[in-house]
Amino acid sequence: MNRYKRVLLKLSGEALAGDKKTGFDESTCIAVANQVKQLVEDGVEVGVVIGGGNFWRGRTSETIDRTKADQIGMLATVMNCIYVSEIFRYVGMNTQILTPFECGSMTKLFSKDRANKYFTKGMVVFLAGGTGHPYFSTDTGVVLRAVELDADVILMAKAVDGVYDSDPKKNPNAKKFDEISLQEALDRKLAVVDLSATVLSMENRMPMLVFALEEENSIVKAVSGDFSGTRVTV
Ligand code: UDP
Repeated sequence: MNRYKRVLLKLSGEALAGDKKTGFDESTCIAVANQVKQLVEDGVEVGVVIGGGNFWRGRTSETIDRTKADQIGMLATVMNCIYVSEIFRYVGMNTQILTPFECGSMTKLFSKDRANKYFTKGMVVFLAGGTGHPYFSTDTGVVLRAVELDADVILMAKAVDGVYDSDPKKNPNAKKFDEISLQEALDRKLAVVDLSATVLSMENRMPMLVFALEEENSIVKAVSGDFSGTRVTV
């Protein structure tokens, strides 16, 4: 029994790359697609936001202008969405890609009405290009779109299986939270998402579920309630 009608799934760019850390790992993407297919078949509306770190980040260059570097980053998220959208189609889903800027015939321009129209048709909607503005991240992009599209929750599929009180890679005694409020995460400087995404999420009361992408069936489990990650409340 699914507890949510509409969810936005956030995947980091690195997650798509698997062990290679760059480009795409097809089997990882197919595994994600099969899980999302299950959700869609159960009647859940799924929007997808993907980062760009498997290709480029605005911070990658200290030489070129930050605005231009961020434009490259936003285009990296568009490339990721085109690829993953095709993988979703390969496993039998219908998809559309929306961007906050024109990409010719490759994507369609984002609007809430357009996204809602596609959701009504049972399509998975990829929200590519982040916010469309430099100096932001796809963390902020996913919160913005989740708020605009009245999503019930954001599914944050990460490399770690939840929010810890310290870095579990550095501290073997790090403790995982079953639940934490964004305010407490902020007070403890835990950076579940970056600061602008945190503020937007708190102001608009958008909850998140943080879990490990590589854990088997973790996306489906998060939606069905059989969840072992961290519930981030607002
Ligand atoms: N980006 C941007 N505006 C947005 C979203 C992303 O400028 O609204 C750029 C930025 O350069 C970022 C890159 O796209 O570094 C990739 O996005 P992601 O969120 O994966 O970046 P990260 O948080 O890993 O830097």
